[in-house]
Parts: sequence; C-alpha cells; structure tokens
Amino acid sequence: MMTTIGKISVLGIFDGTGKEPAREVLSKPGQLDPWECHSDLLDPQGNLEFALGGFLVLAGDRKILIDTGVGTISNDKYEGGLFLENLRGQGIAPEEITDVVFTHLHFDHVGWATQKGKVVFDNATYRVHSADWKYFVESPEANPGAIRKLQPLTDHLETFDEDRELVPGLSSRHVAGHTPGSTIFTVSSGSDRAIFLGDVVHSVVELTEEGWEAVFDVDPVGAKAVRSMISDELAASGELAAAAHFPQFQLGRIVTSDGLRKWKLN
Ligand SMILES: [Zn+2]
Repeated sequence: MMTTIGKISVLGIFDGTGKEPAREVLSKPGQLDPWECHSDLLDPQGNLEFALGGFLVLAGDRKILIDTGVGTISNDKYEGGLFLENLRGQGIAPEEITDVVFTHLHFDHVGWATQKGKVVFDNATYRVHSADWKYFVESPEANPGAIRKLQPLTDHLETFDEDRELVPGLSSRHVAGHTPGSTIFTVSSGSDRAIFLGDVVHSVVELTEEGWEAVFDVDPVGAKAVRSMISDELAASGELAAAAHFPQFQLGRIVTSDGLRKWKLN
C-alpha cells in the first residue's frame, strides 16, 4: 500500500517473513506473561511474525531504500528472497536506486545490500551511521558473516555521525541502543511527515506499553530508554510512523484515550 507524504511516496517492499517465539524475544521484567493479553498478535504456537524487507521512498528524482531485507536466507525462522522481484513489480530495477539508507546493520536489514560479494544497487550511495559500520565491520569482534556481507559496500559507502538531512526529504536521527548506530529516519514534504523507526520497536505493543525488553538489543538499557522516549514523542505528536517489522509494513499512529495508548493504522 502506497503512502503519500506531501509530494513523496512510500511503499513497503516485501522480502519475506521471520518468526520468533514471542515470549523468548520480547518480555517485560516483573511480569510473568505480558503476552497473555496480546495473543491476537501471535500465531497458535506463540510466535511473533516479522515482516522482512524495506521501504521504497520516491522523492523527486531520488529512489531511496530504507533497509534491504533479509536476502536469500531460508531456515526454520527466516525466509526471504522476494525483494528484487517485488521492487521490479513496482517498475524499478536495482540500478535505478539512487540511495540506500540503513536503520542499522543487523542481517535482516542488509540482506540485499550485496549478494555473493557484489553490490546489488550499484548506482546507489549507501549510508549508515559510523557507529554501526565500526561495530559490524571494523571492530575486532565483528561477525565474519556481517563483514563478508558489508565490506564490498566500501566504495559505495558514506557514513554519517550527526543528525542531518541525508537526501532531500529524508533526515537521520541517531538513537543508539538497539545497535550502537541505530538511526531513525524522518521523511518530510511540506507539512507532512512520517517517522521510520527501524528496530527501535519490533511489535506495536512496545509503542503502546512501557517496559518491554527485546533480546536483540545490543544495549538493553539504552534501547529501552529510546523506546520509551520515541513512544512518548509519537503519542504527543500523533505523527505517522512505521517500524521495520510491523505487519505488511503498514504505517500508523499512536492515539491515546482514557490514558491508554493504541496503535491506529493509517
Ligand atoms: Zn530487524
């Protein structure tokens, strides 16, 4: 579903789905079963399904991707592979992409950045916060799989380390926690805005309730603080937002009634 933000169009590009046992990956300290009242969000086995892919942002003459899916992975939890096909379905060939921006460099966001050592969007400038590039590629503890996937980007890469407009209509904001360089992006045109949260949250419950913790967070304390801050901001502003793994990449907003926050789809 295409969303219009002023003169900019945004569309989720589906690559595949991931599945994680909800009670193992998202929990609330001090609560025995915080999923009890959210079973409608889980499958019968208690799994939370993650949409995998990215967002295509069409802004003037720029064709931008926010994240690039999980890639050709196929295992019992993650299944990808449809990203380029679905991009072509929108009439867009990989070489037409002008910019790729990463919310962070976890494997399920960089899947189509390169394939077999070759840059997939070879006319694009790839942009990521320098703290994530250091952590995932340059650090002595960096995962060899991540290095293999990401190092071929070096000639196409521009790292950033301050909050700014990266591409006309798209600005970065550093929110360290989930990963050291985690970034949220604001797409804006005229008075319209939408916020792309990456993995600041994985499920809408983390936006509507305080206190969730995710096992994927590199810095759990920092990530929790960011989650709480962003949730408060979105509740106050009523602005459109989307996380990387929300169902069908749908945008929505937080509405509050009787002191309770709810996620309302756009
Ligand atoms: Zn993710």
